[in-house]
Amino acid sequence: MKILVINAGSSSLKYQLIDMETEVAIAKGGCERIGLEGSFLKHNGKKQVTIESPMPNHESAIKLVLDALVDSEHGVISSMSEIDAVGHRIVHSGEDFDRSVLLTDEVIETCRNNTELAPLHQPANLTGVAACKAVLPEGTPMVGVFDTAFHSTMPEHAYIYGIPYEDYKNYKIRRYGFHGSSHRFVSEEAAKYLGKDPSELKIVTCHLGNGSSISAVDGGKSVDTSMSFTPLGGVPMGTRSGDLDPAIVEFLCKKHGFDVSECVNYLNKKSGVSGLSGVSSDFRDLGEAAEQGNHRAQLALDVFTYTCKKYVGAYAAAMGGIDCLVFTAGIGENDNYVRSQVLKGLEFMGVVADLEKNAVRVKGINDITGAGSRVKVLVIPTNEELVIARDTKEIVCKA
Ligand code: AMP
Repeated sequence: MKILVINAGSSSLKYQLIDMETEVAIAKGGCERIGLEGSFLKHNGKKQVTIESPMPNHESAIKLVLDALVDSEHGVISSMSEIDAVGHRIVHSGEDFDRSVLLTDEVIETCRNNTELAPLHQPANLTGVAACKAVLPEGTPMVGVFDTAFHSTMPEHAYIYGIPYEDYKNYKIRRYGFHGSSHRFVSEEAAKYLGKDPSELKIVTCHLGNGSSISAVDGGKSVDTSMSFTPLGGVPMGTRSGDLDPAIVEFLCKKHGFDVSECVNYLNKKSGVSGLSGVSSDFRDLGEAAEQGNHRAQLALDVFTYTCKKYVGAYAAAMGGIDCLVFTAGIGENDNYVRSQVLKGLEFMGVVADLEKNAVRVKGINDITGAGSRVKVLVIPTNEELVIARDTKEIVCKA
């Protein structure tokens, strides 16, 4: 069985074709600058190629992807009918879905009704669905896998804010959480690695990438997570502020002459470690600048690692303990300095890391647990595409 995984953004579209016998991506790539001048497709199949071609919309982008997949030189399949199903990453399930679902017309309409909750991402995700429906053979099953769904198990006291309850009832203002596929994947991988059933474990998963979120996973279920109503909340990120005193929004509006949406844009695009350091949103650049004595780069790293550490402690308290701490995503998997700073000082709660193992990069899971640690400390590469493909397979096989 071969499953095409699609992650459609507003001007980009990433894809992987996964062979479910081996769970290996036999082709992957992405279209950039959809709807803009200079659009191109980077495809890695039998060969790696960059194809420059106009892509006025997502439908033309999907057509190019499919052409690349069946191409005699760099393709990996001989016809589109070899694609058994398509799994789509969809950012927001609202309160409507607590798991992945077959994308019927009715489900797509429900997803559309949740656009208000993710105005930047949901329309792009749904455009990707429509484009695939238009281009793939009729009847090719499509499945939606939501970023929020894994967090639907959070208890009420973790997702309700301290504002009038009517605002939750009327407008669905609550914590939703994101990166669900990643938190789910790495917590399941951790349980497998430890030879335990997920129901026996209390795990804190740190997905630290360009967007970062930290989750408390108790007995295989998300019970709290740092991203919030939108992916702006939680720890400071590449360009996103993370949590703030809400009164700062009015203050910033007054000082900069912003209206509220300009202010939110500022908090999304000009803030985080980029705004703090004035250097970069990329942790490789921050590390280099800090080593050369740049105080603001060092400060950005300190604010980030300190905030992550606070979440780890908070979630251990929320769960009444912790058996395993997991790092994943671009920073979590690669930045041993960030990991070492988050881990430093957590010995009081039984977390001891082996700093030599932490400094080494390995393929697959890196167990960086130190001698005498009560808590396992693991670095686990995430694979959100595989979660999407597995869910798609399961749903399609059941249907
Ligand atoms: P992601 O969103 O998971 O793809 O993570 C992307 C981010 O990971 C980049 O913006 C970098 O900040 C960070 N990153 C990637 N590779 C490294 C590395 N080798 N060392 C430190 N940070 C890295």
